[in-house]
Amino acid sequence: MVDYLIVGAGFSGCVLAERIATVLGKKSLIVEKRSHIGGNAYDYYNEYGILVHKYGPHIFHTNSQKVVDHLSQFTNWNAYQHKVLANVDGINIPVPFNLNSLSLIFPHEKAQHLEKLLLDNFGYGTKIPILQLRQSTDGELAELAEFIYQKVFLNYTKKQWNLEPDELDAAVTARVPVFISHDNRYFQDDFQGMPMEGYSAMFERMIGNNPLIDIALNTDYADILSSIQFNKLIFTGPIDEYFNYQFGALPYRSLRFEHETYNVEFYQETGTINYPNTFDYTRRTELKHLTSQKNERTTCTIEFPQPFIIGENEPYYPIPQTYNNDLYNQYAREAEKIEDSVIFCGRLADYKYYNMDQVVARALHIFEKRINI
Ligand code: FAD
Ligand code: UDP
Repeated sequence: MVDYLIVGAGFSGCVLAERIATVLGKKSLIVEKRSHIGGNAYDYYNEYGILVHKYGPHIFHTNSQKVVDHLSQFTNWNAYQHKVLANVDGINIPVPFNLNSLSLIFPHEKAQHLEKLLLDNFGYGTKIPILQLRQSTDGELAELAEFIYQKVFLNYTKKQWNLEPDELDAAVTARVPVFISHDNRYFQDDFQGMPMEGYSAMFERMIGNNPLIDIALNTDYADILSSIQFNKLIFTGPIDEYFNYQFGALPYRSLRFEHETYNVEFYQETGTINYPNTFDYTRRTELKHLTSQKNERTTCTIEFPQPFIIGENEPYYPIPQTYNNDLYNQYAREAEKIEDSVIFCGRLADYKYYNMDQVVARALHIFEKRINI
């Protein structure tokens, strides 16, 4: 008999289990179908001793001091400012596309002219989503927008989502806006960093060795549901799966990762290089740039977008589109009907394109408003 049965040992499940144990002194059983805790943020040391993010590179960034304070109970941080280059016509330019990208792409005079135009129209430090810049009525701005759209966004988005940018919610491409600045960082959040000993070590400190938290790995919750007694269920898996796909399956996008190790100290000049227009992968990330690890070899992770097929691969990305959001809302209404006994929480359960900090903030909010009452 446990107070809470928690499905999924990612950020959502672990943050909630820890709060329930520490603040309420209540017992949880976390059921996780994978062989480890940490969800998609799980990392491990490969055969060369290099820390690898199994499910793709994870960079922590947030404007929420509350989230930083919460996680800092379980980890120290390495300062890290993520930088990304996009390979466009054979040249590596900063993304988000900024004033430095402009100078690398265009001849000096043209770049200066376009810089002045951007500064006059928007002002230094402004971020403009590409779909908004494309609406410019000024001919030169419209031409520049079209260039950036074609060279940086269109083919990357087709590869990543199998959709064009305007077929997705505008918020998707707005994550990487055109930035009227010389700041080459990918994120401008107040806090950015990497857990000093990695994500898995952080999760271990959060929920490992806690007598009030039991963890059943390699276990699908559906297989044990009838044999466990619990007061409340917290579900952090896909919400459509919970409801047996009764309104139809929610679409997700999947990825295949290749982790390659090279016999050189560093392979590329920065953390991530995007390949919008070449290859069938979107980006290559060199982990040692992120983790500050020292090693004579280096490991890169390459991301190959894939269609999601239930039972065959993982639902990494909800696909933010009106039709899918409406379908999700049908499930959310079912969830409301059982809210006294089941809590849905997380990127898959809320069908939202959350970053890690948003997932932590959401779990803390749910704890305060629905559990610690
Ligand atoms: P998850 O981590 O998905 O955890 C859910 C868990 O539930 C999984 O472990 C799953 O195995 C388990 N589960 C599901 N169904 C069942 C079942 N039936 N029975 C038992 N267990 C089940 N965020 C950032 O802030 N920065 C980044 O740089 C970043 N990079 C990312 C890169 C990629 C490629 C991806 C896919 C995501 C990235 N994210 C990033 C987002 C981040 O991974 C998520 O916000 C976060 O991990 C979500 O946590 P969660 O607990 O909600 O879900
Ligand atoms: N994007 C793009 N070109 C780039 C970088 C991003 O077209 O060089 C678009 C693409 O649609 C991508 C979205 O912006 O899916 C969000 O990018 P982000 O890097 O935030 O995606 P994530 O890290 O979540 O995969």
